[in-house]
Amino acid sequence: MDAMTLEAPVTSALVGDLDDEQREAVLAPRGPVCVLAGAGTGKTRTITRRIAYLVAAGHVAPGQVLAVTFTSRAAGEMRARLRSLEQDAGLGVATGAVQAMTFHAAARRQLHYFWPRVVGDTGWELLDSKFGVVATAASRASIQASTDDVRDLAGEIEWAKSSLISPEGYAAAVAKVGRDIPLDAAKIATVYAGYEAAKARRDGTTLLDFDDLLLHTAAAIENDPAVAAEFRDRYRCFVVDEYQDVTPLQQRVLNAWLGDRDDLTVVGDANQTIYSFTGATPGYLLDFSRRFPDAAVVRLERDYRSTPQVVSLANRVIAAARGRMAGSRLQLVGQRDPGPVPTFGEHPDEVAEAAAVAKAIRTLIAAGTPPSEIAVLYRINAQSEVYEEALTEAGIAYQVRGGEGFFTRQEIRQSLVALQRAPDPGPDDPLPDVVRAVLEPLGLTAEPPAGTKARERWEALSALAELVDEEVAVRPELDMRALLTELRQRADARHPPVVQGVTLASLHAAKGLEWDAVFLVGLADGTLPISHALTHGADSEPVEEERRLLYVGITRARVYLALSWALARTPGGRQGRRPSRFLNGVAPQASATDAGPSKPRRQRGPAPRCRVCNGALSTPTSIMLRRCETCPSDIDEQLLADLKEWRLATSKEMGVPAYVVFTDNTLIAIAETLPADEAALVAIPGIGARKLEQFGPDVLELVRNRG
Ligand code: ATP
Ligand code: MG
Repeated sequence: MDAMTLEAPVTSALVGDLDDEQREAVLAPRGPVCVLAGAGTGKTRTITRRIAYLVAAGHVAPGQVLAVTFTSRAAGEMRARLRSLEQDAGLGVATGAVQAMTFHAAARRQLHYFWPRVVGDTGWELLDSKFGVVATAASRASIQASTDDVRDLAGEIEWAKSSLISPEGYAAAVAKVGRDIPLDAAKIATVYAGYEAAKARRDGTTLLDFDDLLLHTAAAIENDPAVAAEFRDRYRCFVVDEYQDVTPLQQRVLNAWLGDRDDLTVVGDANQTIYSFTGATPGYLLDFSRRFPDAAVVRLERDYRSTPQVVSLANRVIAAARGRMAGSRLQLVGQRDPGPVPTFGEHPDEVAEAAAVAKAIRTLIAAGTPPSEIAVLYRINAQSEVYEEALTEAGIAYQVRGGEGFFTRQEIRQSLVALQRAPDPGPDDPLPDVVRAVLEPLGLTAEPPAGTKARERWEALSALAELVDEEVAVRPELDMRALLTELRQRADARHPPVVQGVTLASLHAAKGLEWDAVFLVGLADGTLPISHALTHGADSEPVEEERRLLYVGITRARVYLALSWALARTPGGRQGRRPSRFLNGVAPQASATDAGPSKPRRQRGPAPRCRVCNGALSTPTSIMLRRCETCPSDIDEQLLADLKEWRLATSKEMGVPAYVVFTDNTLIAIAETLPADEAALVAIPGIGARKLEQFGPDVLELVRNRG
């Protein structure tokens, strides 16, 4: 059956509200389809419709479609759209049953299934953090590696594995791409080889890192015809959103999934490539039609998300892009009615900037914009704190996305336990009522309580209750067991429910999402572009990636867009900052104060001193230990190592450098003072209310469980 033979109402429900190009992509015959298009042009909308079309036309059963993307949030967004399509379109097509998940989640699931058959009795264990194993491999290779070196080494191993480069091939590969590397290539290769060997077996159990999940999945399908046959029978149709961020390793998995079939729809925007530092490359997107010469290639230029004013700013910012992406640029054409011109605000310091943003948000809310339609976006999560304070002061509810895990909040974990223990509700007890009754003793009162902490707790519990309402609305047959399964899946995928407050998020976490009003804050040179990108040179690819981040940020706004920066960090501080170089010639103020690019400053602390005898430290080991090797240690080194592993995993999850989570000194202070409770933890310099809330439970648990 094709589009011609679909019932007219079905076709109209599927593509009636799409433009010609989108429709072409949706209704393309079974086979390869590539949508190359800019932000807000309806790529995600198009692929969810294509899935519905393939199902409605009988090409594939919903359960045979595998839709993949790169972040759990984006996967959650896709699931939500597929579900609402099932409800709203009234097609009788169960698009809600389509599997939409990240590459890693898909690989993990498949590996669980195939492992016993492919490998046998020995099990595997997920290695959440490379840090410990890399440190061991470095020391076995007689490399004196500081904490930073170990972190850099882990980053290199990750890049190499994502790029399908073996230890033997590492040196040549690095030379070929002219990669900036932290140590001698041969040394890195030795550590990489040692890391792989050390991980291979421990207590008869294989340790697998995140990349191994993908590698083993690909290998199982590539090497075992029976596995391949079973898998390919199970999944027949593949869809990839945000394809510009695929790594060679993920592509290999995708190839294994496909075999010699070509039922693949990809969509992406090369100008939104913001994960290159992990090995992602838009090359596969841009070369798609070379690989599949008969692919339907569709370009979309109409931007349905944003006003012409916002679109024009986005076009201007990305027009200045240099390097390999410049050739793939598309000029977006805004489709919405005209709106306000984006504003640019310069402030004396960050506190003033945040206060101004809070005030503008209050005005917007008073004029009718729902808080959930407003976002404040920044480069790194640590920037959220000053906004949290300003919004709290202004009495505006907010939620921090990306940084904090909703499902790791204490009250939410307690709630899940309580729900698990709750007696099975009778057939006539509506599930939402039962859930509310269970949550009430945990703090879900009818009216929100006074006090910031109690109020936050209440908001989290309300969000959980509303999430249950939503689930039940979508799946009325849901019982307690199925609900708990769904909640646990969400917890694994870290997809929190939407709280009805203003969103605070990093630019990385905002990809694919949209709001009526967006505040892009902290647009100072050195923050965006971030200083460590600038160390690669003004025209370097890392700086270009920062420009694309700004482009991603701008294109999140539907109507109202405000860009701002502060000249100093703290009130009364030296006003040495300049607006982001990307605003030169774009923002009126920025062009007026254009004083040329500012020099990146390398951060250099004071000379390291021993924390026991205060003598100067010179050897790498003593510097890493922060004490003379001969001075007595009062630190729990194992705990410190555990804390660092945890920090690395956390920072990776948040997409920020590790020091943003905690500096080394803070971790050392924790490993020395062994705080037993929140009060002791918050007494440590570098741990404020926000960090306590975000990381306190994890850190206290590590301290408690130390060997
Ligand atoms: P991004 O690159 O940011 O991921 P995208 O290309 O995936 O963006 P979507 O999120 O699918 O874009 O669409 C952007 C917005 O425009 C959504 O609100 C979507 O519903 C709306 N939209 C898309 N196509 C149309 C259309 N033909 N008519 C009206 N609205 C549309
Ligand atoms: Mg999208």
